Amino acid sequence: MQIAFIGLGNMGAPMAINLIKAGHSVKAFDLSQDAVAKVVAGGGQAAASAQDAVQGAEAVITMLPASQHVEGLFLGDGKLLASIAKGTLVIDSSTIAAATSQKVAKAAEAAGIDFIDAPVSGGTGGAIAGTLTFMVGGREAQLERARPLLEKMGANIFHAGSVGAGQTAKICNNMLLGILMVGTSEAIALGVANGLDPKVLSEIMRRSSGGNWALEKYNPFPGVHENAPASKGYAGGFGTDLMLKDLGLSQENAIATKASTPLGGMARAIYAAHSVGGHGGEDFSSVIKMLLKKG
Ligand code: NAD
Repeated sequence: MQIAFIGLGNMGAPMAINLIKAGHSVKAFDLSQDAVAKVVAGGGQAAASAQDAVQGAEAVITMLPASQHVEGLFLGDGKLLASIAKGTLVIDSSTIAAATSQKVAKAAEAAGIDFIDAPVSGGTGGAIAGTLTFMVGGREAQLERARPLLEKMGANIFHAGSVGAGQTAKICNNMLLGILMVGTSEAIALGVANGLDPKVLSEIMRRSSGGNWALEKYNPFPGVHENAPASKGYAGGFGTDLMLKDLGLSQENAIATKASTPLGGMARAIYAAHSVGGHGGEDFSSVIKMLLKKG
């Protein structure tokens, strides 16, 4: 299948490469030439623009940072929707506001284009391994159209509900992830302040009632997990500013629905302070730096 892939960052590039490995033809576009080069090295074709990428595409996949990028791309100045052929399937895997997904989906429907939100979980490791979890919002028939492509990039595909529901599931998950990364960091920092070995403590907690995803795969303390961003100077992975965005989305939603999310609100404040402290571009597990004793 001819696929346009737009947004080739930490997540988009490995996802696009998995589609190429599965035999699809991918025309790739990103504002960064370096990002495009990675997908070209993986067998993709470079597109000169987003408009160029979607020419002849049967499916369009986007993996962009935030709501404004998705809305700007499809409905803004370039109005990409107008360049996409009627009947095309558009899969947006970015984590954005559900209301933005619904707005773009409405415009897409008016143009005869199938649009679903399909945000993901599983981190860059899951994107590379093709084991992501997709949370899909859209009609059943639209999900079934997308399924063969999603299966090449992920291991779990859930139908969360109508368009926007994938995003709502995603912000619930990431609110929990933000909270548990801070909690895991606090526990490790407390142990280290008492002279415990972070590796031994992490293994004890992983196999005890405090066990969680960070302790399994994404330990925030350098050197515990060889492949985690913490062991690579907090480079790559999931940026602090992206986590801050997701916690902001969860709190906006909590305000709108009058839901009580006290720890989500606190986690947002902690990540905001971490970002202001100059760590916005580092992986979100670097939040442990705020909590470890210096000297
Ligand atoms: P990233 O910052 O690494 O990549 C985003 C890419 O989009 C960049 O290469 C940027 O140049 C490109 N871009 C921005 N605007 C563009 C435009 N108008 N046209 C073309 N390209 C454009 O981000 P990421 O970590 O890959 O995350 C992407 C999305 O996935 C975010 O919404 C994030 O919240 C979500 N997400 C990330 C992870 C993770 O572990 N990194 C996990 C799950 C979900």
